[in-house]
Amino acid sequence: MKGLKGKNVLVTGATSGIGKAIAARFAVEGANIAINYRNDPEKAEDTEKLIEEMCSQVKGCGGKEMRVEGDVSQEQDIIRMCDEVISKFGSIDILINNAGIQIAADSHKLSADDLDKVLSVNLRGSFLCAREVIKHFLERGNGGIIINVSSVHEIIPRPQYVSYSMSKGGMENMTKTLALEYAPKGIRVNAIAPGATETPINEWSNDPQKKQKIVSHIPLGRTGNTEEMAAITAFLASDDASYITGQTIFIDGGLTLYADFLKPWSAGE
Ligand code: NAD
Repeated sequence: MKGLKGKNVLVTGATSGIGKAIAARFAVEGANIAINYRNDPEKAEDTEKLIEEMCSQVKGCGGKEMRVEGDVSQEQDIIRMCDEVISKFGSIDILINNAGIQIAADSHKLSADDLDKVLSVNLRGSFLCAREVIKHFLERGNGGIIINVSSVHEIIPRPQYVSYSMSKGGMENMTKTLALEYAPKGIRVNAIAPGATETPINEWSNDPQKKQKIVSHIPLGRTGNTEEMAAITAFLASDDASYITGQTIFIDGGLTLYADFLKPWSAGE
């Protein structure tokens, strides 16, 4: 894809699932990758192995990689993490706000602590990462790119996961607000909204029966994979998407079209 070769990309939560695939995809495009991990450097090593494996099949890979520790729910970690990447790579060109968690609970039983945990990673953490890289983009003066990893639950309510839905709903407005505020400075801010994607965050990934139930709601008849999420993330960060800002691209096999409406359902039909 145009314009990704040699770019410095920071991917939060790059040790698993969608973040790992995004890191590998940008590496294949020739970018330099800062792999953020929370507390387990061995997991960052796994991402490096995936990059190595994928790059062995592709000409023109050959960017640099670095590991950067940081808990995105901690402001000081985020500031240090961005500083480390800038001092090692010289700059950050692209931020991928991918780190995310979910906690299930009936909403009337959700503790303030659990609510705070989810919001502090998914929403506050993403904002603080964006804030830090925007400061850097403004100082160096030639724009920059932020991609937020949102969810179909940006718009689909999700009972028992109100904190997750709130975080992704907030992310939609954060994406639009930052996109509008910094468009005059050449900063593009977009989001992807994955549908049901097989990763460790979903316990159904290893349960064929539960998976089938989920698939029954997906018009394209299957769950998504991490490579599909990574491809659109790379596209949005590339020069091919140079006129797109403030948008969320849904990558969901049609989940947000509501499969139940495939059959006639209104009165009299
Ligand atoms: P995952 O559990 O495989 O990966 C989550 C990553 O975030 C891990 O690398 C984890 O270490 C990291 N992380 C968690 N808390 C962190 C913290 N405090 N600081 C730094 N890193 C932290 O899940 P995934 O499915 O790959 O999720 C990635 C993103 O995609 C999340 O934002 C999630 O909400 C979103 N998403 C996933 C799906 C899906 O079906 N898998 C659907 C929609 C959106």
